[in-house]
Amino acid sequence: MAPPELDRKSALFLDLDGTLLEIAATPELVVVPPALPSVLSHLHRQLGGAVAIVSGRPIGQIDRLLAPFLASAAGEHGVSIRYADGTLEDLPVGIAVPESWREALAGAAERWPGVRIETKPHGVAVHYRLAPERESEVWQLVRDMVAPDHPWFRLIPAREAVEIGLRAASKGHAVERFMGHAPFHGRKPIFIGDDFTDEAGMSMARQFGGLGLRVADVFGGDPAQVRAWLTLGMERMEGHPPPDAAGTTP
Ligand SMILES: [Mg+2]
Repeated sequence: MAPPELDRKSALFLDLDGTLLEIAATPELVVVPPALPSVLSHLHRQLGGAVAIVSGRPIGQIDRLLAPFLASAAGEHGVSIRYADGTLEDLPVGIAVPESWREALAGAAERWPGVRIETKPHGVAVHYRLAPERESEVWQLVRDMVAPDHPWFRLIPAREAVEIGLRAASKGHAVERFMGHAPFHGRKPIFIGDDFTDEAGMSMARQFGGLGLRVADVFGGDPAQVRAWLTLGMERMEGHPPPDAAGTTP
């Protein structure tokens, strides 16, 4: 499947790791290509602000990685949302991973070199990319903590990682909430993602008459191809001003 042509009626929902950025050995080691923030800023202007980053990372980390680009964002798989006008919304408020779970995970990380715990405001991720032989033990540990019918938390599988996150939030809910607000409302959403948690975002984009694009299927599994497609869309739109602006262009 070839990626669609981006036009000025689109809204972009973009996952970060594995979609805009190559996966690194640990989350802190990702490299942001120097041109990426500027391409995103151009697209943001061309799409009337309808660009949102929808990531498992907290919003503060998204901002730091993509600075000076600053836009709508959903962090922690949809737990936190920042709308285009800067309004912040946390859903639901006041639930955090129990301290006993955090302690048990920290203990496991000490016993298992290469296993890393990433604490987030509302959840916790366990990364085993550097210790793939620990995969089954990591899963056993988190399965013992979070039962399949746990009322508040769920396990979110990721690439060589598993996260304990809030059941009530998802990237699909994030897309739905953005689509109810300006400047996303009425636009055709295009969600691009690479991972399990992106599926909910893709399916919601399709429910709004848009597209859900898997990096593996549409971009050869290569974030560089996603960035190239965004750059091409930006250049095309630069060359073709919207009809209502044509009369005023000198
Ligand atoms: Mg991803």
